[in-house]
Amino acid sequence: MKVDKFTIDLRSDTVTRPTTEMREVMHQAVTGDDVFAEDPEINELQRKCAQFFGMEAGLFCPSGTMTNQIAISVHTRPGDEVICDKLSHIYHYEGGGVARLSGASVKLLNGDRGRFTSEDVVKAINPSDSHYANTSLVSLEDTCNKGGGSIWDEEEILAIHKVAKSNSLSMHLDGARLWNTIVARGIHHNTAALKQYGSNFDSISLCLSKGMGCPVGSVLIGTEAFIAKAHRARKVFGGGMRQAGIVAAAGSYALDHHLDRLEEDHLHAKMLSEASLKNNHVASVSKVETNICILELVPGIDSADLAKQWGELGIACFPFSPTSIRFVTHLDVSRSQIEMACSLLSK
Ligand SMILES: *Cc1c(COP(=O)(O)O)cnc(C)c1O
Repeated sequence: MKVDKFTIDLRSDTVTRPTTEMREVMHQAVTGDDVFAEDPEINELQRKCAQFFGMEAGLFCPSGTMTNQIAISVHTRPGDEVICDKLSHIYHYEGGGVARLSGASVKLLNGDRGRFTSEDVVKAINPSDSHYANTSLVSLEDTCNKGGGSIWDEEEILAIHKVAKSNSLSMHLDGARLWNTIVARGIHHNTAALKQYGSNFDSISLCLSKGMGCPVGSVLIGTEAFIAKAHRARKVFGGGMRQAGIVAAAGSYALDHHLDRLEEDHLHAKMLSEASLKNNHVASVSKVETNICILELVPGIDSADLAKQWGELGIACFPFSPTSIRFVTHLDVSRSQIEMACSLLSK
C-alpha cells in the first residue's frame, strides 16, 4: 500500500512520528549509562511513571512486548499457568512468548471484548493437585486492543484483585493503552484515583509509542523488589540499554504534553464510527470507548479488498479479520483529515 504524506493513516497509533518539540527535547537530553542506572532521563521517566500510579519503581524497556514478558517471567515459574482473556495481547501478539520465554501455559477466558469477571477467574484457578498446572498469575489488558479499545469496570478489577489475593496469585496489567482508559474515564489528573487504580496490580506495563506518540519505549512499574527482579530479566532478554535517555526524554515530554489530547483521538474515533455506519459495505460498528473503531463488514465483502480500495482513496486502514476493518486515531491525524475521511466513508 502506498502511504504518503497525503494518506490519512488509520492503521495504528504506532505510526506517529516525534513532533518537532519532542525532537528538541530528545536533542537536549542529558544521558548516562543505564546499565549502571546512571542515565538521568531514564531514572526520571521510571520515577514519573511509577509515581503516576502510586507504585514504588519503574523499568524502561524497548517495547511493550518486553515489559509484559518480563513481568510474566518474574511472576511465574516454568510449568505455571497464566489466566488471561482469549483476546489478550500477551497471548495473541507476542509470538508465543509466555511459553517460549517463561515456560508457562495460558488458560484463556471467553470475556466480553477482552474483559472477564471475578467469577470467571474463580472457575479458572486450578485445584492444588499435582495433576494440574500451578495457577500463579492473572493478566488483564486495559484498554483491550483486540477488544476494540474497551475499558474495564474498576469494580470488576477490584473483585478480581480480591480473588487473586485470596488465592496467592499475582496480578499483572498490560496497560499499553492505559493512558486512553484514564483519559476516557477523566481520572488522568486525579492522583488519588490513579493510585487507587494502580493498587489493584502487582505490575503494570505502560507503552509510550502508541497514543503518547513517542518513537520507542515502554515502562514496567511495580514494587522495588519486583523491579529488581525485572531488571535482571531485562538483562537476560537482551533489553539492557546504555544512553537511552535520548528516547526516555521523549517519554517524559509525552507525559506532560500528549496525555490530555487523547480526548481528541477519542472524539475522532466516534466521528469515524458514525460516518462508517453510513457506508454500504459496513454492517455494524463496535461501540467506540477510546481511539479504536472496529467495523464489521456486510457478508461477502472481503476486508483485505476493501482496505485496498479505501487505501486508494487515501484512507489507510488495517484488515483486522477477514470480515472486519480497524481504524485507530492518533496524534498524526488532524480534525480536517478525520472530516475528510468521514465524508469519503459516508458516501
Ligand atoms: C502495542 C501493545 C503492546 C506492546 O506492543 P509492542 O509492539 O511490543 O510495543 C502490548 N499490549 C497491547 C495491548 C498493545 O496494544
